[in-house]
Amino acid sequence: MAANQQTKQQMNRGSVESKKFKALPVSDKKRDYLTDANNRSHMLDILKELIDQEVSFSLYCIDVDSFCSINRRKGFRLGDLVLIDLYTNICQYFPTAFVFRSHGDHFYVITKEDASNKFDRVPTFFDCQSYKYSISCGMVRYPDDASTWEEMIHYSEIAKKDAKKIKGNSVSLYQNVDVEMNVLVDYVEQTIHSSTDEKWITFAYQPIVSVNNKRVEGYEVLMRWNDPLHGSIPPDVFIPIAERDGMITQLSKKLLCECKQTMLCFKKHFETHYLAVNISVLDLMSEEFIPFLRELFKENENLLEKLEFEVTETYYFNNFDMIEKKIELIQEMGIKISIDDFGTGFSSFEKLVNLKFDRIKIDQSFIRHLPHSEKDLLIINAIASLAKGMKLKVTVEGVENYRQQECLKLFCFDAYQGYHYAKPMFLEAAMAVFDEDIKRKFQ
Ligand code: C2E
Ligand code: CA
Ligand code: CA
Repeated sequence: MAANQQTKQQMNRGSVESKKFKALPVSDKKRDYLTDANNRSHMLDILKELIDQEVSFSLYCIDVDSFCSINRRKGFRLGDLVLIDLYTNICQYFPTAFVFRSHGDHFYVITKEDASNKFDRVPTFFDCQSYKYSISCGMVRYPDDASTWEEMIHYSEIAKKDAKKIKGNSVSLYQNVDVEMNVLVDYVEQTIHSSTDEKWITFAYQPIVSVNNKRVEGYEVLMRWNDPLHGSIPPDVFIPIAERDGMITQLSKKLLCECKQTMLCFKKHFETHYLAVNISVLDLMSEEFIPFLRELFKENENLLEKLEFEVTETYYFNNFDMIEKKIELIQEMGIKISIDDFGTGFSSFEKLVNLKFDRIKIDQSFIRHLPHSEKDLLIINAIASLAKGMKLKVTVEGVENYRQQECLKLFCFDAYQGYHYAKPMFLEAAMAVFDEDIKRKFQ
């Protein structure tokens, strides 16, 4: 065990006996064998005791995003190292609190201080042996948010689930949680296995416009779940659940069938236009994905070169050694690869220049504060020169107004996508977007 880690753990062990709380003495039976954190039974003792004493405190519930897939794809050894690394990080951010590992990747922190601003200093991802991982964290306060230890644990879990909506390390406070959204997430989790075949999964198409000739050059296909009970459920809600529950490849197959149908229906149109399709890294890892793709397009191979698969930056680079062969096969079939949400994943330049892809899509978070944010302009500038050096195409996402568009003129990007030109819409409406209308947006 690294010396500094041991020191932190000793600090944490010491804090259990600190005078901040009147805690029970800690026996080894109350410690976790892997990380040496306090264990669940100790946590319950302390929670009950604090509530008995009516002491104000906060409970944080923390877990690793997609932890199962770290174990599955990278092995249990790395999984264990991530847990130890996370424990060390938690102790660093909460040096005077009680830290517990309850089970698996579930950690809890009990603290008296208001520690929510600690997360301002936490990086977007943690690094364990060059593997980038992120955590989600939910916080609940006693007695403001809950009155029993069962509620404290339950509400902290709800807040943590809420934090999962944000990519990268994130924290949600129970007091700010949208409870309705949580009802929705529960509903999706319960129904996703029976819903993916139903008619209520539909697709929207958002035009992507060429900066050069100011016309529509392609469309991003975006999945929609139009639920008979809950109305439109956003993909940000159901896609992560589909990925977690092993349903994503089924959805992606449905999406590719739709793409083929669309390209056949508007054959003439797709001689000159392309379809950008969001593909999960889990699809690329699945053994059935490429055979399915070949079978689907075996009589229409010419359509393959009209497809661009978008893979999110973090997932692409973190798993590249496992998907490299598949990426090659996909590119040999004529399909292009774009890196989505570019700039959010902190990929190293060394990784970037060594990998094969055709396009990057600059994440909309860098566009949102233009033209005022000098920091975002600096980042966009760096991405522009990188893309130029690597001869990559660049699409800018989330262009919402004329001023942002004018600001982007500074760089020679290839394509724009955003509400300024067109929102995602039904297929027929998207195919009927006039190039003349797009041209007017540039004037
Ligand atoms: P994304 O791939 O980054 O897709 C772009 C998102 O930005 C879409 O949200 C789109 O509606 C939204 N958007 C486009 N222009 C603007 C703009 O000017 N301003 C703002 N604020 N937003 C804009 P949507 O459709 O809600 O999709 C969210 C995410 O869900 C997508 O992000 C993608 O990661 C995922 N997703 C959507 N459809 C699919 C799919 O078929 N398969 C997979 N695996 N993921 C999907
Ligand atoms: Ca995308
Ligand atoms: Ca994106």
